[in-house]
Amino acid sequence: MSIKADKKHHYRTIDKTCLWANISYLILRVFYLVLFLVAKLYIIAGITAGTIVIYLLCFLLVKHKKYYLYALLCGNEFFAYITATTLMLGFDTGFHFYLIGLCVVSFFTSYFSKKDQIRNSIIWVGLSVAIYLTIYLVSEFNKPYYSIDSWLRMTLFITNAIIVFAFVACYLTVFVRYAISLEDKILNESRTDELTQISNRYGLYDYYEEIDDKDEQAIALFDIDDFKFVNDHYGHAAGDLVLKRIAEIASDEVGDEFVCRYGGEEFVAVISGSVLEKLEALRKRIEKEEFEFEGEKIHVTITIGAVNYSEGMTLEEWVMAADEKMYTGKHSGKNRTVYSPKKNKKTSKK
Ligand code: GH3
Ligand code: MG
Ligand code: MG
Repeated sequence: MSIKADKKHHYRTIDKTCLWANISYLILRVFYLVLFLVAKLYIIAGITAGTIVIYLLCFLLVKHKKYYLYALLCGNEFFAYITATTLMLGFDTGFHFYLIGLCVVSFFTSYFSKKDQIRNSIIWVGLSVAIYLTIYLVSEFNKPYYSIDSWLRMTLFITNAIIVFAFVACYLTVFVRYAISLEDKILNESRTDELTQISNRYGLYDYYEEIDDKDEQAIALFDIDDFKFVNDHYGHAAGDLVLKRIAEIASDEVGDEFVCRYGGEEFVAVISGSVLEKLEALRKRIEKEEFEFEGEKIHVTITIGAVNYSEGMTLEEWVMAADEKMYTGKHSGKNRTVYSPKKNKKTSKK
Protein backbone atom coordinates (compact mmCIF):
# COMPACT_ATOMS: atom_id res chain seq x y z
CA MET A 1 0.00 0.00 0.00
CA SER A 2 1.35 3.45 -0.89
CA ILE A 3 1.65 6.28 1.64
CA LYS A 4 -1.32 7.94 -0.11
CA ALA A 5 -3.43 4.78 0.28
CA ASP A 6 -2.27 4.48 3.90
CA LYS A 7 -3.48 8.01 4.63
CA LYS A 8 -6.79 7.29 2.91
CA HIS A 9 -7.25 4.19 5.08
CA HIS A 10 -6.33 6.23 8.17
CA TYR A 11 -8.77 9.07 7.37
CA ARG A 12 -11.52 6.64 6.37
CA THR A 13 -11.24 5.08 9.84
CA ILE A 14 -11.43 8.46 11.60
CA ASP A 15 -14.19 9.67 9.28
CA LYS A 16 -16.35 6.60 9.85
CA THR A 17 -15.74 6.61 13.61
CA CYS A 18 -16.54 10.33 13.99
CA LEU A 19 -19.65 10.03 11.86
CA TRP A 20 -21.03 7.03 13.74
CA ALA A 21 -20.08 8.54 17.09
CA ASN A 22 -21.89 11.78 16.20
CA ILE A 23 -25.00 9.94 15.02
CA SER A 24 -24.97 7.90 18.27
CA TYR A 25 -24.48 11.00 20.47
CA LEU A 26 -27.36 12.72 18.66
CA ILE A 27 -29.75 9.77 19.04
CA LEU A 28 -28.76 9.55 22.70
CA ARG A 29 -29.52 13.22 23.31
CA VAL A 30 -32.89 12.93 21.55
CA PHE A 31 -33.64 9.96 23.82
CA TYR A 32 -32.77 12.03 26.94
CA LEU A 33 -34.81 14.96 25.63
CA VAL A 34 -37.91 12.77 25.25
CA LEU A 35 -37.32 11.27 28.69
CA PHE A 36 -36.93 14.70 30.36
CA LEU A 37 -39.98 16.10 28.59
CA VAL A 38 -42.08 13.11 29.70
CA ALA A 39 -40.82 13.68 33.26
CA LYS A 40 -41.57 17.43 32.87
CA LEU A 41 -37.96 18.42 33.70
CA TYR A 42 -37.98 21.45 31.42
CA ILE A 43 -34.66 23.12 32.33
CA ILE A 44 -32.57 20.02 31.73
CA ALA A 45 -34.73 19.28 28.65
CA GLY A 46 -33.82 22.78 27.35
CA ILE A 47 -30.11 22.16 27.98
CA THR A 48 -30.40 18.83 26.16
CA ALA A 49 -32.14 20.52 23.21
CA GLY A 50 -29.18 22.95 23.06
CA THR A 51 -26.72 20.07 22.90
CA ILE A 52 -28.73 18.55 20.04
CA VAL A 53 -28.08 21.73 18.06
CA ILE A 54 -24.35 21.41 18.86
CA TYR A 55 -24.31 17.79 17.58
CA LEU A 56 -26.15 18.79 14.42
CA LEU A 57 -23.48 21.45 13.79
CA CYS A 58 -20.80 18.85 14.54
CA PHE A 59 -21.71 17.07 11.30
CA LEU A 60 -20.20 20.08 9.52
CA LEU A 61 -16.93 19.66 11.44
CA VAL A 62 -16.79 15.97 10.51
CA LYS A 63 -17.66 16.78 6.88
CA HIS A 64 -14.80 19.29 6.72
CA LYS A 65 -12.45 16.81 8.44
CA LYS A 66 -11.87 19.06 11.46
CA TYR A 67 -11.51 15.96 13.62
CA TYR A 68 -9.38 17.43 16.38
CA LEU A 69 -11.70 20.42 16.81
CA TYR A 70 -14.62 17.99 16.78
CA ALA A 71 -13.08 15.83 19.52
CA LEU A 72 -12.26 18.94 21.58
CA LEU A 73 -15.80 20.34 21.25
CA CYS A 74 -17.46 16.99 22.06
CA GLY A 75 -15.15 16.37 25.02
CA ASN A 76 -15.86 19.77 26.59
CA GLU A 77 -19.56 19.50 25.83
CA PHE A 78 -19.61 16.12 27.60
CA PHE A 79 -17.82 17.60 30.63
CA ALA A 80 -20.46 20.36 30.86
CA TYR A 81 -23.42 18.06 30.21
CA ILE A 82 -22.28 15.40 32.71
CA THR A 83 -21.77 18.09 35.36
CA ALA A 84 -25.17 19.67 34.69
CA THR A 85 -27.13 16.38 34.61
CA THR A 86 -25.39 15.00 37.73
CA LEU A 87 -25.95 18.16 39.76
CA MET A 88 -29.56 18.51 38.60
CA LEU A 89 -30.62 14.85 38.68
CA GLY A 90 -28.25 13.22 41.17
CA PHE A 91 -25.06 11.12 41.09
CA ASP A 92 -27.04 7.88 41.03
CA THR A 93 -28.39 8.59 37.54
CA GLY A 94 -25.03 7.27 36.27
CA PHE A 95 -24.06 10.20 34.01
CA HIS A 96 -20.62 10.06 35.63
CA PHE A 97 -19.93 6.81 33.69
CA TYR A 98 -19.38 8.99 30.62
CA LEU A 99 -16.22 10.39 32.20
CA ILE A 100 -14.63 6.92 32.04
CA GLY A 101 -15.74 6.59 28.41
CA LEU A 102 -14.22 9.99 27.64
CA CYS A 103 -10.80 8.84 28.84
CA VAL A 104 -10.89 5.95 26.34
CA VAL A 105 -12.00 8.30 23.55
CA SER A 106 -9.20 10.76 24.38
CA PHE A 107 -6.53 8.04 23.88
CA PHE A 108 -8.26 6.95 20.68
CA THR A 109 -8.15 10.55 19.45
CA SER A 110 -4.50 10.92 20.37
CA TYR A 111 -3.62 7.79 18.36
CA PHE A 112 -5.39 9.04 15.25
CA SER A 113 -4.37 12.69 15.42
CA LYS A 114 -1.37 13.80 13.39
CA LYS A 115 0.71 14.90 16.35
CA ASP A 116 1.50 12.82 19.39
CA GLN A 117 -1.27 13.90 21.72
CA ILE A 118 -0.66 11.41 24.57
CA ARG A 119 0.21 14.35 26.83
CA ASN A 120 -3.20 15.87 26.05
CA SER A 121 -4.90 12.54 26.81
CA ILE A 122 -3.24 12.44 30.22
CA ILE A 123 -4.42 16.02 30.91
CA TRP A 124 -7.88 14.86 29.78
CA VAL A 125 -7.80 11.93 32.21
CA GLY A 126 -6.71 14.32 35.01
CA LEU A 127 -9.60 16.65 34.21
CA SER A 128 -12.05 13.72 34.09
CA VAL A 129 -10.92 12.51 37.52
CA ALA A 130 -11.17 16.05 38.93
CA ILE A 131 -14.70 16.50 37.56
CA TYR A 132 -15.67 12.98 38.67
CA LEU A 133 -14.61 13.63 42.26
CA THR A 134 -16.06 17.15 42.31
CA ILE A 135 -19.53 16.09 41.15
CA TYR A 136 -19.39 13.15 43.56
CA LEU A 137 -18.53 15.36 46.55
CA VAL A 138 -21.00 18.10 45.58
CA SER A 139 -23.73 15.45 45.23
CA GLU A 140 -22.78 13.93 48.59
CA PHE A 141 -23.25 17.23 50.44
CA ASN A 142 -26.08 18.79 48.39
CA LYS A 143 -29.43 17.57 47.21
CA PRO A 144 -29.89 17.52 43.43
CA TYR A 145 -31.88 20.37 41.84
CA TYR A 146 -34.68 17.96 40.87
CA SER A 147 -36.11 15.24 43.01
CA ILE A 148 -36.83 12.63 40.35
CA ASP A 149 -38.96 9.47 40.43
CA SER A 150 -37.17 6.20 40.99
CA TRP A 151 -38.29 4.82 37.56
CA LEU A 152 -36.47 7.72 35.87
CA ARG A 153 -33.39 7.35 38.07
CA MET A 154 -33.19 3.63 37.35
CA THR A 155 -33.85 4.10 33.62
CA LEU A 156 -31.07 6.70 33.42
CA PHE A 157 -28.60 4.61 35.47
CA ILE A 158 -29.15 1.44 33.45
CA THR A 159 -29.14 3.25 30.08
CA ASN A 160 -26.02 5.22 30.92
CA ALA A 161 -24.15 2.15 32.17
CA ILE A 162 -25.02 0.09 29.09
CA ILE A 163 -24.26 2.92 26.67
CA VAL A 164 -20.87 3.77 28.17
CA PHE A 165 -19.73 0.12 28.22
CA ALA A 166 -20.97 -0.30 24.64
CA PHE A 167 -19.13 2.88 23.55
CA VAL A 168 -15.89 1.73 25.16
CA ALA A 169 -16.21 -1.67 23.46
CA CYS A 170 -16.90 -0.04 20.07
CA TYR A 171 -13.97 2.40 20.27
CA LEU A 172 -11.59 -0.34 21.38
CA THR A 173 -12.84 -2.64 18.61
CA VAL A 174 -12.13 0.01 15.97
CA PHE A 175 -8.73 0.66 17.54
CA VAL A 176 -7.69 -2.99 17.79
CA ARG A 177 -8.93 -3.76 14.25
CA TYR A 178 -6.98 -0.80 12.88
CA ALA A 179 -3.83 -1.81 14.77
CA ILE A 180 -4.09 -5.43 13.52
CA SER A 181 -4.60 -4.35 9.90
CA LEU A 182 -1.60 -2.04 10.22
CA GLU A 183 0.52 -4.82 11.71
CA ASP A 184 -0.43 -7.20 8.86
CA LYS A 185 0.40 -4.55 6.30
CA ILE A 186 3.81 -3.78 7.84
CA LEU A 187 4.63 -7.49 8.11
CA ASN A 188 3.61 -8.03 4.51
CA GLU A 189 5.62 -5.05 3.27
CA SER A 190 8.68 -6.13 5.22
CA ARG A 191 8.54 -9.45 3.31
CA THR A 192 8.04 -7.90 -0.14
CA ASP A 193 10.81 -6.71 -2.43
CA GLU A 194 9.98 -3.17 -3.46
CA LEU A 195 11.28 -3.35 -7.03
CA THR A 196 9.96 -6.74 -8.15
CA GLN A 197 7.01 -7.05 -5.75
CA ILE A 198 7.88 -10.69 -5.08
CA SER A 199 9.00 -11.96 -1.68
CA ASN A 200 12.38 -10.86 -0.30
CA ARG A 201 14.85 -12.93 1.73
CA TYR A 202 12.90 -12.36 4.96
CA GLY A 203 9.94 -14.02 3.25
CA LEU A 204 12.26 -16.99 2.61
CA TYR A 205 13.05 -17.21 6.34
CA ASP A 206 9.31 -17.37 7.11
CA TYR A 207 8.68 -19.86 4.30
CA TYR A 208 11.51 -22.12 5.50
CA GLU A 209 9.93 -22.30 8.98
CA GLU A 210 6.70 -23.54 7.44
CA ILE A 211 8.13 -26.30 5.20
CA ASP A 212 7.38 -29.64 6.80
CA ASP A 213 8.62 -31.88 3.96
CA LYS A 214 12.13 -30.44 3.61
CA ASP A 215 13.44 -33.82 2.38
CA GLU A 216 11.34 -33.41 -0.75
CA GLN A 217 12.51 -29.86 -1.44
CA ALA A 218 15.43 -28.29 -3.27
CA ILE A 219 16.72 -24.77 -2.97
CA ALA A 220 17.74 -23.17 -6.24
CA LEU A 221 19.77 -20.00 -6.30
CA PHE A 222 20.02 -18.22 -9.61
CA ASP A 223 22.05 -15.23 -10.59
CA ILE A 224 21.82 -13.13 -13.73
CA ASP A 225 24.93 -13.52 -15.86
CA ASP A 226 26.98 -10.40 -16.59
CA PHE A 227 24.30 -8.18 -15.19
CA LYS A 228 26.78 -5.41 -14.59
CA PHE A 229 27.09 -5.20 -18.37
CA VAL A 230 23.31 -4.68 -18.70
CA ASN A 231 23.48 -1.76 -16.28
CA ASP A 232 26.61 -0.30 -17.82
CA HIS A 233 25.42 -0.69 -21.40
CA TYR A 234 21.66 0.04 -21.21
CA GLY A 235 21.44 1.95 -17.95
CA HIS A 236 20.24 1.20 -14.43
CA ALA A 237 16.57 1.61 -15.39
CA ALA A 238 16.98 -1.12 -18.01
CA GLY A 239 18.57 -3.32 -15.34
CA ASP A 240 15.59 -2.70 -13.08
CA LEU A 241 13.20 -3.66 -15.86
CA VAL A 242 15.10 -6.92 -16.46
CA LEU A 243 14.96 -7.72 -12.73
CA LYS A 244 11.19 -7.11 -12.65
CA ARG A 245 10.54 -9.24 -15.71
CA ILE A 246 12.75 -12.08 -14.46
CA ALA A 247 10.84 -12.02 -11.17
CA GLU A 248 7.57 -12.32 -13.12
CA ILE A 249 8.89 -15.18 -15.24
CA ALA A 250 10.30 -17.01 -12.21
CA SER A 251 7.00 -16.59 -10.30
CA ASP A 252 5.14 -17.93 -13.31
CA GLU A 253 7.50 -20.91 -13.64
CA VAL A 254 7.42 -21.94 -9.97
CA GLY A 255 3.63 -21.56 -9.79
CA ASP A 256 2.47 -22.46 -6.29
CA GLU A 257 6.01 -22.97 -5.08
CA PHE A 258 8.25 -20.30 -3.60
CA VAL A 259 10.54 -17.75 -5.20
CA CYS A 260 12.10 -14.62 -3.77
CA ARG A 261 14.61 -11.95 -4.68
CA TYR A 262 17.43 -12.90 -2.36
CA GLY A 263 19.34 -9.70 -3.01
CA GLY A 264 20.83 -7.73 -5.96
CA GLU A 265 20.44 -9.87 -9.08
CA GLU A 266 20.13 -13.15 -7.16
CA PHE A 267 16.91 -15.09 -6.69
CA VAL A 268 16.10 -18.14 -4.59
CA ALA A 269 13.38 -20.70 -5.35
CA VAL A 270 12.23 -23.59 -3.17
CA ILE A 271 10.90 -26.36 -5.39
CA SER A 272 10.13 -30.06 -5.33
CA GLY A 273 9.43 -32.83 -7.85
CA SER A 274 11.27 -32.73 -11.18
CA VAL A 275 13.70 -30.08 -10.01
CA LEU A 276 16.14 -30.20 -12.91
CA GLU A 277 13.36 -30.10 -15.53
CA LYS A 278 11.70 -27.16 -13.82
CA LEU A 279 14.94 -25.21 -13.49
CA GLU A 280 15.96 -25.93 -17.06
CA ALA A 281 12.57 -24.71 -18.26
CA LEU A 282 13.15 -21.46 -16.34
CA ARG A 283 16.71 -21.05 -17.59
CA LYS A 284 15.71 -21.66 -21.22
CA ARG A 285 12.73 -19.32 -21.00
CA ILE A 286 14.93 -16.49 -19.74
CA GLU A 287 17.57 -17.27 -22.36
CA LYS A 288 14.93 -16.87 -25.11
CA GLU A 289 13.24 -13.81 -23.65
CA GLU A 290 13.69 -10.42 -25.30
CA PHE A 291 13.58 -7.67 -22.69
CA GLU A 292 12.53 -4.49 -24.44
CA PHE A 293 13.73 -1.20 -23.04
CA GLU A 294 13.30 2.07 -24.93
CA GLY A 295 13.39 0.28 -28.28
CA GLU A 296 16.42 -1.85 -27.40
CA LYS A 297 16.19 -5.61 -27.13
CA ILE A 298 18.14 -6.99 -24.20
CA HIS A 299 19.07 -10.64 -23.81
CA VAL A 300 20.23 -12.13 -20.54
CA THR A 301 20.99 -15.58 -19.18
CA ILE A 302 21.05 -17.01 -15.69
CA THR A 303 23.19 -19.54 -13.89
CA ILE A 304 21.43 -21.79 -11.41
CA GLY A 305 22.78 -23.79 -8.50
CA ALA A 306 20.40 -26.16 -6.72
CA VAL A 307 20.65 -28.70 -3.93
CA ASN A 308 18.22 -30.89 -2.07
CA TYR A 309 17.88 -30.70 1.67
CA SER A 310 20.23 -32.78 3.80
CA GLU A 311 19.39 -33.75 7.35
CA GLY A 312 20.35 -31.10 9.90
CA MET A 313 20.97 -28.28 7.40
CA THR A 314 20.15 -24.76 8.50
CA LEU A 315 18.61 -22.45 5.92
CA GLU A 316 21.89 -20.54 5.64
CA GLU A 317 23.80 -23.78 4.97
CA TRP A 318 21.21 -24.86 2.42
CA VAL A 319 21.39 -21.56 0.52
CA MET A 320 25.20 -21.61 0.80
CA ALA A 321 25.27 -25.11 -0.74
CA ALA A 322 23.11 -23.88 -3.63
CA ASP A 323 25.39 -20.84 -3.95
CA GLU A 324 28.43 -23.10 -4.27
CA LYS A 325 26.73 -24.99 -7.08
CA MET A 326 25.82 -21.71 -8.75
CA TYR A 327 29.50 -20.65 -8.64
CA THR A 328 30.50 -23.99 -10.14
CA GLY A 329 28.15 -23.10 -12.99
CA LYS A 330 29.63 -19.61 -13.31
CA HIS A 331 33.17 -21.00 -13.47
CA SER A 332 32.26 -23.55 -16.08
CA GLY A 333 30.83 -21.03 -18.54
CA LYS A 334 27.56 -19.57 -17.09
CA ASN A 335 24.02 -20.04 -18.49
CA ARG A 336 23.62 -23.50 -16.97
CA THR A 337 22.02 -25.39 -14.11
CA VAL A 338 24.14 -27.25 -11.60
CA TYR A 339 21.91 -29.49 -9.55
CA SER A 340 22.85 -31.87 -6.81
CA PRO A 341 19.98 -34.13 -5.73
CA LYS A 342 21.50 -35.38 -2.46
CA LYS A 343 24.85 -37.00 -3.29
CA ASN A 344 24.94 -37.30 -7.08
CA LYS A 345 25.69 -34.20 -9.04
CA LYS A 346 24.04 -33.53 -12.38
CA THR A 347 25.10 -30.72 -14.66
CA SER A 348 23.12 -29.56 -17.60
CA LYS A 349 24.81 -27.53 -20.25
CA LYS A 350 23.32 -25.15 -22.71
P1 GH3 B 1 28.26 -12.62 -12.98
O1 GH3 B 1 27.87 -13.21 -14.29
O2 GH3 B 1 29.54 -13.16 -12.46
O3 GH3 B 1 27.15 -12.74 -11.98
O4 GH3 B 1 28.51 -11.06 -13.25
P2 GH3 B 1 27.57 -9.87 -12.86
O5 GH3 B 1 27.97 -8.68 -13.67
O6 GH3 B 1 26.15 -10.27 -12.98
O7 GH3 B 1 27.90 -9.71 -11.34
P3 GH3 B 1 28.40 -8.49 -10.51
O8 GH3 B 1 28.34 -8.94 -9.08
O9 GH3 B 1 29.74 -8.00 -11.01
O10 GH3 B 1 27.36 -7.34 -10.78
C1 GH3 B 1 26.06 -7.42 -10.29
C2 GH3 B 1 25.40 -6.14 -10.70
O11 GH3 B 1 24.01 -6.16 -10.28
C3 GH3 B 1 26.00 -4.93 -10.04
C4 GH3 B 1 24.86 -4.18 -9.45
O12 GH3 B 1 24.89 -2.81 -9.75
C5 GH3 B 1 23.64 -4.80 -10.11
N1 GH3 B 1 22.45 -4.69 -9.31
C6 GH3 B 1 22.23 -5.17 -8.08
N2 GH3 B 1 21.00 -4.80 -7.66
C7 GH3 B 1 20.45 -4.05 -8.66
C8 GH3 B 1 19.20 -3.38 -8.81
O13 GH3 B 1 18.31 -3.38 -7.96
N3 GH3 B 1 18.97 -2.74 -9.99
C9 GH3 B 1 19.92 -2.72 -10.98
N4 GH3 B 1 19.64 -2.08 -12.12
N5 GH3 B 1 21.10 -3.32 -10.83
C10 GH3 B 1 21.37 -3.99 -9.71
MG1 MG C 1 25.50 -11.81 -7.98
MG1 MG D 1 25.38 -11.82 -11.79
